[in-house]
Amino acid sequence: STVLVTGGTGFIGMHCIETLLHHGFKVKATVRSHKKGEILKRCFPRYSSKISIGLIKDITDTKSLIREIKGCSAVLHLASPYTYNVKDCFSELVEPALEGTKAILKAAESESKVKRVVITSSFAAVFDATKGLQPGVVLNEDQFSPLTIADGCSTQDPAVAYRASKIVAERYAWNFIKQRRPHFDISVVCPPMVYGPLVSTALLDNLDHLNFSNTCIWKMANLGADSPVPPTKGPVYVDVRDLAEAEYRALILKQAGNERFMVSAGDFCNQEICDVLRQSLSHDRARNVPVGTPGQRMSGSHYTTDSSKAITMLGISFRSIENSVVDLVNQLYEYQISH
Ligand code: NDP
Repeated sequence: STVLVTGGTGFIGMHCIETLLHHGFKVKATVRSHKKGEILKRCFPRYSSKISIGLIKDITDTKSLIREIKGCSAVLHLASPYTYNVKDCFSELVEPALEGTKAILKAAESESKVKRVVITSSFAAVFDATKGLQPGVVLNEDQFSPLTIADGCSTQDPAVAYRASKIVAERYAWNFIKQRRPHFDISVVCPPMVYGPLVSTALLDNLDHLNFSNTCIWKMANLGADSPVPPTKGPVYVDVRDLAEAEYRALILKQAGNERFMVSAGDFCNQEICDVLRQSLSHDRARNVPVGTPGQRMSGSHYTTDSSKAITMLGISFRSIENSVVDLVNQLYEYQISH
């Protein structure tokens, strides 16, 4: 059967496509341009007959989604803006996230074959940033960010608008299920900072267009040995390959229906990332990484996460931060050399 993947050209979306293809599913990926669709297909040469493309210039375009969802039995919904580089917080972050979720649910309602829609929400839709670092607090899928559409409307801070975009879209989805009782169910995954290598760099025009979370790692890896280690802003992470597996299982497992999952490997701090990069990269690459105070950890000074529901119900396990960031940084160096 065919799974519709929105945001298939994105960092997480490409891993989700790879996981679905690997498990024998057909994939229809929505893309914003024909060119990107062609490049995306070429990233999976072994599966050329199993991957098709749906051109949807904007994720809020319900009509096109209704056309493209025909024949699909499930949806992985990932298309949503994740950037702080915006002029207008509401129209560039909150609106596309919310209207995109509305559109995909409406489209799913139009195709009787659809059994499940997996929504990629976020840790941003879980925690309440106004409470600060909350030492000792353990967060799981039971918590919901208190941000509202009014917060997303009034703020000039893209970080607040992004967090609002995720909770507002997610809340809409839960209400939709409650009120409309459609023929499909949903499953929601809430990942924190997602790191890890790209499936392919073929869609990357330059390193300035690297996705947001990995940009934080790449910038830090290039600050220089004597620079201070930047403060750790979102101290919880998950490897993209583990997240893709979690999304896949949230899609296929019956018991994941109408459930929400925290999908987090746990906490980390930037000093830890710098330590592992300096240990594992080659000498010429390691010397670009801030030294800071090796071995110093933030442990105990901020909230952490509990993903035991995802571990038990979805049967997933988590890679170490070392695994995520070393593979990524080496891949980006190779990209830089060849461009
Ligand atoms: P990317 O920026 O790499 O991918 C975003 C994807 O969404 C791209 O395919 C992009 O298309 C598409 N997209 C964005 N806006 C629109 C729009 N208006 N219409 C159509 N398509 C659009 O981000 P990630 O892969 O990191 O993020 C994917 C999802 O995961 C998002 O929902 C994000 O909120 C969520 N998430 C990400 C985390 C992270 O740390 N990376 C953490 C928690 C949640 P195009 O390629 O054309 O730009």
